[in-house]
This record gives sequence, structure tokens and C-alpha cells, in this order.
Amino acid sequence: MNSTTILGGGLAGLSAGLVLTRAGRRVLVLEREPALGGLARTIVRGAFRFDLGGHRFFTRDKGIEAFLRELMGGELLSVPRKSQILLRGRYFDYPLRPLNALSGLGPWTTVRMLLDYAVEHARHRLRPPASVSLEDWVVSRFGRTMFEIYFKGYSEKIWGIPCERVCTEWVEQRIQGLSLGVAIRRALLGSAADLPTLAEAFLYPALGIGRIAERMREEIEPDGRVVTEARVKRLEHDGGLVEGLAVVRGGRSCVVEGDEFISTIPLTALVRMLHPAAPARVLEAASRLRYRDLVIVAVMLDRERVTDQTWTYVPGADIPFSRIHEPTNWSATMAPQGKTLLVTEHFCFSGDGTWRARDEDLARMTIDHLGRMGFVDRREVIDSAVVRVAKAYPVFEVGYREHYDRVCEYLGRFRNLDIVGRGGTFKYLNMDHAIAAGIEAAERVVRRSGRERREDLTEPVLARMNA
Ligand SMILES: Cc1cc2nc3c(=O)[nH]c(=O)nc-3n(C[C@H](O)[C@H](O)[C@H](O)COP(=O)(O)OP(=O)(O)OC[C@H]3O[C@@H](n4cnc5c(N)ncnc54)[C@H](O)[C@@H]3O)c2cc1C
Repeated sequence: MNSTTILGGGLAGLSAGLVLTRAGRRVLVLEREPALGGLARTIVRGAFRFDLGGHRFFTRDKGIEAFLRELMGGELLSVPRKSQILLRGRYFDYPLRPLNALSGLGPWTTVRMLLDYAVEHARHRLRPPASVSLEDWVVSRFGRTMFEIYFKGYSEKIWGIPCERVCTEWVEQRIQGLSLGVAIRRALLGSAADLPTLAEAFLYPALGIGRIAERMREEIEPDGRVVTEARVKRLEHDGGLVEGLAVVRGGRSCVVEGDEFISTIPLTALVRMLHPAAPARVLEAASRLRYRDLVIVAVMLDRERVTDQTWTYVPGADIPFSRIHEPTNWSATMAPQGKTLLVTEHFCFSGDGTWRARDEDLARMTIDHLGRMGFVDRREVIDSAVVRVAKAYPVFEVGYREHYDRVCEYLGRFRNLDIVGRGGTFKYLNMDHAIAAGIEAAERVVRRSGRERREDLTEPVLARMNA
């Protein structure tokens, strides 16, 4: 007893486990998948390695950067970022550089873009608009031409709903502080590199992002336990306290008891696991929160290198994937010498045509498109791999907040349950935020463990979730 059970072995859960272990607490991490790392794991296929969509580590939080550097020792590479976007059949630097855009989009489009921007900028200054959707937000800051060319296609591919249905919260978190003015200043003076969206370089473990989770496991064990292929099925609770978990592993069920629980599993799944069940209005609210899913298709090639890019963004609706990365540009050890691989991200909703398509069909279709884009000669293809990633992105659909608040309000009653992480809190967190959230959850548990009776835990969970 006097132990903490952590639901989910992604970066948030493992960071919490690591900090608690260092503080001398007994820790049990339960992870459903055979491998740790959650969204930030690295798949190994023969001698090839790839992330579930390239994961760069960048943070403005010096404490989190120090935590990572100390954990990873000499494993981290500093990788320059160089990305491009395919617009109207041509590749442009990403983020756009004004001179590059001017020469590529043609004078008429560029003038329209700048005029639109000037009008919106003046209007914005006179009276800041009340933006509800991603579309309002972008148009009022960048102008409609820029929105149509640059933001609309990619955003709608990611979210699977029209931009007028995506609420501003995402865009505010994603492109904080970014404006065309900032982008131009950066292009001319290189002065905005501290914005995460525009950072010029990032950290990356030589053997893939999944090494971070593996290193965390090594630090947690042998004092603590990290158990994979252990699926949490039910949370038993009574009187505002979680009493235990029903866990399935290898076809067998068992009950795990504990004093403190930290959940990083998707919020909507957590609510459905409660026993006794949450009230119908809470379950109904949870059913209105959606995640976007993802299918990764990797194509291994008998060629030294295809691109020199970190990412290639593909907003066009005529191409099924949204982004490509070539892991060997991140770290040469992601493929055997003389070989490389391209990794494509197909956004979808689980159960739709993409999600249900056969692996061979997904691979064939991806290779066809990569061939037409001039990236791949089919004779060079050595192998392919398909990985389905459920609940990759919380979808911030206009109106979601009301449902979200209702779920949080209910979960706020559990005094020994901390809820953190990306899917856990339904927030657009990057790895640095997920790590920070895990560390903070562990610190709260350590502080609370100073108190003698569990009934004395009065810190409102709702405030912690929204912190
Ligand atoms: C395509 C893509 C690209 C990204 N690129 C970047 C990037 O470049 N830089 C960056 O900083 N961030 C990036 N991110 C975000 C990053 O992946 C996340 O912020 C981070 O991995 C979230 O960690 P987490 O622990 O909060 O959640 P997760 O990684 O989702 O961990 C939750 C864990 O809970 C487990 N679980 C779920 N249900 C159960 C259950 N019932 N029982 C037991 N275990 C369960 C899951 O298997 C998972 O391992 C990207 C994300 C995606 C999808």
C-alpha cells in the first residue's frame, strides 16, 4: 500500500512514474500496448525504425529540457529543421518565406494575399474580432487568400471537419503568437526562433523518439514496476475515492489496489470505465467528445536518401496523406546504411474507409502517390509497414467545451485520481507539456502523501486538470 498506480505508459505516465520512484514511492505503471511510449513510440521493422509521425523535441521550458538531457545522456542529436509544403503542385519552404512565396505563387496571388492581409490587419487593429472558429481566427489575422491557400486544406485533412467547425482553442495553442508579421520578421531577421512553430532546430534521440520512454522505464525499474500488455478495464470507486482497478493481461483479469491513481488514458475511455457507472448526462457528454485517429504507412527503400527535409506537408485533397517524413534525415541510424524510408500520415476516424482498408491496399496506394510525386521508384521499394494509431488528436469542435466541462466536473469528485496527458485531459499537448504534466502530477502525489488520512485530500481535482 501507500503506492501509486499509473494508467498508461506514454510520456506523461512514465514521467510521473520516474519522479515518484526518485521520491521513494512505490509505483506501478500499466500500459495496454506491448511497447511503451504511447504516441511517442518508435516502431522497429527489421533494421528500419520510425516514429508514429516524426516527433521532434522542442521546448521553451529550460527545466524540462534539462530533465530530458539528464535522462538521455549522450543519446540526443541536435537536428536542423527544414520543411516544405506542397501547394498548387510546387514546393515552398515551410513556414512560408515571403520571397519564396512571391516567386512561387505568382504576382497576382501574392498581391491578393498581401492586400487581404493589409485589410484584415487594419480591421483587426480597429476592432479585434470575436473569433469562434479556426476559419474566423486565421482569416482575421492572415486574410482569406492566405487561409484558402495555406491553412484550409491541411487543417481539414487533420480534423476531418470543415475549418468553420474547428474551434479557436486549437489554433491558439498551435500557432501561438504567430502572425504574418512575425513570419516576415523571422524570414528577414531570423528573430522569432523562440516560437515553437518556427524553431530552427530540435532534439532527437539517435534511435528514435521511443528511446525516451525506454530510458524512463530503465530508471523506474527495478524499484517500481512497469507492466505492458496490461489493459485497464474498470475503475472501482466509492465515496469519491478510487479503490482499485480491474486489469486484463494475457486473457486473465486481476484487481489492482492502490492509494493514489494517475490516469493518462483517453478521458472518454476513463469515464466509461467507472464502476459504479457515471451518470447518464456525463456519459452522454463524453460521447460528444471525439478524437481523430491516424494510420501510418511507412515505405522502406533501397536508396540512400530521397529528400533533405524534416517534414513535407501535403495539404491537397487529391493526396490521401497529410505529411511525409524521412527518418534518416532526423538520425542516420533509423535505417541500414545505403537505405532509407518514407513515413506518411493518413488522418482518419477509426472505422472509416482508411482505418478499415487492408494493409496491402494502403501500402499500394501510398507507393502510387509517392511515385507520382516523384519521391519513389516502385522498383526501389523493399518493404512497407502499416500502423493504426487510435485517438491521436483531440478534436476541438465548436461547442465541445460544454461537454468537456461536464465530464471534468464529474471527475473532479475523485480525490485520489489525478488526470494528466494529451488524451487524458483532451488537450493539444506536445511531448514537453506531457512530460511536465506527469512531473507535476507526481509532485502533487508526493505532497498529498504527507497527509495522514486519504479523506483529508481536499485539493480540487478540477482545478488541477485545468491548470
Ligand atoms: C502524428 C503526431 C505527431 C506528433 N509530433 C510531435 C512532435 O513533433 N513534437 C512533440 O513534442 N509532440 C508531438 N506529438 C504529440 C506527442 O505525441 C504527445 O504530446 C505525447 O506523446 C503525449 O503523451 P501522453 O503520455 O500524454 O499520451 P499517450 O502517448 O497517448 O499515452 C497514453 C498511454 O495510455 C495507454 N492506454 C490507453 N488506454 C489504456 C488502457 N485501457 N489501459 C492501459 N493503458 C492504456 C496508451 O496505449 C498510451 O501508451 C505528436 C503527436 C502525433 C499524434
